Amino acid sequence: RISYVNGRYVRHAEAAVHIEDRGYQFADGVYEVCEVARGFIVDMKGHLDRLDRSLRELAMDWPLGRKALEVIIREVVARNRVRDGLVYLQVTRGVAPRDFLFPKDTAPSLVVTARKVDPAVGAKRAGTGIKVITVPENRWDRVDVKTVGLLPNVLAKQAARDAGAQEAWFVDTDGMVKEGGSSNAWIVTKDGRLVTRPADHGILRGITRTTLFEVAAKLGLAIEERGFTVAEAKDAREAFISSATTIAMPVVEIDGHVIANGHPGSVVLSLREAFFDVAEKSQA
Ligand code: PMP
Repeated sequence: RISYVNGRYVRHAEAAVHIEDRGYQFADGVYEVCEVARGFIVDMKGHLDRLDRSLRELAMDWPLGRKALEVIIREVVARNRVRDGLVYLQVTRGVAPRDFLFPKDTAPSLVVTARKVDPAVGAKRAGTGIKVITVPENRWDRVDVKTVGLLPNVLAKQAARDAGAQEAWFVDTDGMVKEGGSSNAWIVTKDGRLVTRPADHGILRGITRTTLFEVAAKLGLAIEERGFTVAEAKDAREAFISSATTIAMPVVEIDGHVIANGHPGSVVLSLREAFFDVAEKSQA
């Protein structure tokens, strides 16, 4: 494997940043994960637009021009011969002697990695669906910024694993579902309408979420952008999550409560099926 680190393509095993990188010391950095499917990078524009927003919200500079970053992303994908898989990119405020205040004249650090993922794994998982647990929201109130400060997400997802589940949904004090540890949360109502929480500061505006709005429109499915409670989700016709790594993934159990008949729903499976056609067309 080959990775990109601050201007150089290096062997992945030897790719490293300095111990005084602010990403390492303060989680002072942002990232993106893009899906690679059938050889194309799914919605690179959407991911780079969101990266731009994350950087601006944290008053961080682009490490290099946007076109140059696009070239690097494609190069890392090509050098690793990824046809189906993931690209990870991370920008931090750079390397400087440890101090809370922004360093002056410090170049941001940029890392880009890519790896293959067998699409059969996700397809198989979508055939059975996943289980989620709910956990109290304990993150800061700017989770709309995609920072590498993911410790609450790490703990929530590990708690899910320990409970035999695959994702954890953060729930606020009113019992409203916010989003997953690394995904957005959706339900399908009894009358077949899609429901997902508005993308305010309380959740990350998922790129997959946005594409699924287009997919839903194409399939003639109505979307209600509103909050929903854990109780409503447990009683829904279907539930699912979305992210670049899972696309649309059926949820069949919430906190041990079986959703509908316990099998992946037809709406989420039709969204999943239609996703790549819509994503591929939007490349042009
Ligand atoms: N919410 C959180 C907290 C996430 O980490 C992710 C995955 N990056 C998402 C939602 C889904 O976003 P996307 O569809 O852009 O992968």
